[in-house]
Amino acid sequence: MFEQIKSAVTRLESYANKTPVLSSSTLNKMLGAEIYFKCENFQKIGAFKFRGAFNCISQLTEQEKQRGIIAFSSGNHAQAVALVGKMLGIKTTIVMPNNAPKIKLAATKGYGAEVVIYDVQTEIREDITGKIQEKYGYTLIAPFDNYHVIAGQATAAYELHQKVSGLTKLLAPCGGGGLLSGCAIATKGLNPDCEVIGIEPANADDATQSFNTGKLVSIPNPNTIADGTRTTSLGKVTFPLIQEYVDAMKTVSEEDIIQAVQFHLLRMKIVVEPSGALGLAALLSKSIAINSKEKIGVIISGGNIDPSTLIQMLEMSQ
Ligand SMILES: *Cc1c(COP(=O)(O)O)cnc(C)c1O
Repeated sequence: MFEQIKSAVTRLESYANKTPVLSSSTLNKMLGAEIYFKCENFQKIGAFKFRGAFNCISQLTEQEKQRGIIAFSSGNHAQAVALVGKMLGIKTTIVMPNNAPKIKLAATKGYGAEVVIYDVQTEIREDITGKIQEKYGYTLIAPFDNYHVIAGQATAAYELHQKVSGLTKLLAPCGGGGLLSGCAIATKGLNPDCEVIGIEPANADDATQSFNTGKLVSIPNPNTIADGTRTTSLGKVTFPLIQEYVDAMKTVSEEDIIQAVQFHLLRMKIVVEPSGALGLAALLSKSIAINSKEKIGVIISGGNIDPSTLIQMLEMSQ
């Protein structure tokens, strides 16, 4: 798998943005440690998902590319697949829920993908996707449970370790676990002493429960502001990888997440979506014990937030 990650690094070389690594001296003083943020909110489409989508789709056969691709997603994966489809000239269909953030819906359409909307209350997205797929012979691009997708997401952590050596901990958010499993494998390959910690909203802590019990736990329709982590469970591929390569899982409250989004915007002057702020939320809420002089890497996974949601979050008391 580590070799696959290195191939993904090469494959993405001239397509993905080399996202910046930022730090905040205010935060470092507050925590008594050095924190390095890998800013995937500056990635193409505003989130790391471009990496996995590009690594996966660019490796399809010519025949598969000619037939077209399909994905179901409430957000960033949809935009990523739509953009890669456009870049590579592949017909793309995206199945999205009627409660998807408006900014993500508009962006997906803007990349020229055909969008099919379904009702989350009454319809099952897998059924709808399956029917369309069968009819047209499209290839399904999975959001996380696919080795090529995982290897692509891993390149975010790979780049961070290349830029900052000697990290003692790496924090990454966890939804379906594609980002976390990939980042963990990249980390253990480049810097085995670095502890990898996955962060989830407490309201969507299925991965934490699965990790702690060794059994795959599902939470249907988890209620969290962090929409990128609303997946019901880890996948068949990501779960065993997380058990093997991740050292710990931690959870954060909705209040912690809001505070972190505010800190990113007001102190660091960067727009981060709730799912992207999970790492900082864990640090600010002291869910993670920090020794002085530690060097902690944090993956900021994305920055796509509806303006109205951002305004609401800023108006909440600090
Ligand atoms: C998809 C996504 C996540 C979760 O990634 P998984 O690979 O599903 O664990 C976290 N943050 C953002 C911004 C995302 O788009």
